[in-house]
Amino acid sequence: MNNPVEQTIACSQCDTKRPLSEMVTQRPLPDTPDTFEVGCLCPNCGLWTHSYYVTPRLVQWQGRINKAAAEFQRLSALYKAQRGLPSATSLFLEAQHAEKLLRGSERGYAKVFEESNAELRKRFGTKSPTQILQEAKANETAVGGEGGGNGGA
Ligand SMILES: [Zn+2]
Repeated sequence: MNNPVEQTIACSQCDTKRPLSEMVTQRPLPDTPDTFEVGCLCPNCGLWTHSYYVTPRLVQWQGRINKAAAEFQRLSALYKAQRGLPSATSLFLEAQHAEKLLRGSERGYAKVFEESNAELRKRFGTKSPTQILQEAKANETAVGGEGGGNGGA
């Protein structure tokens, strides 16, 4: 079976085009056990493009999210199956609580992600894809621009 539409990306150095899943890979970081860097590796010219870092703490938080999501799904399914029955009310509250825990672990992950990635980018001198995009845009506007000559009134 064919994959449904998959995003294709082009290497910024040699313009080789591949599906995203073939380009994205991870590599270990020097002197940082259990931490690795996720990025795109061009199979043609070998250009590495940084995406983000994954630390053991992030893996831990991902585990919490998965656990909380599974519990929320389990309780939601139970609630749906028993809707209309007296037991449904307490299941509804339990599911609501489980959802709160899930959102909480998602926020925890996001916070640890921001902190650890900022720290590692500083240490290794890497830029986030967002930073690179913003800088490229800033250059475009500086070079291209809309030209002056707007005569008023
Ligand atoms: Zn390339």
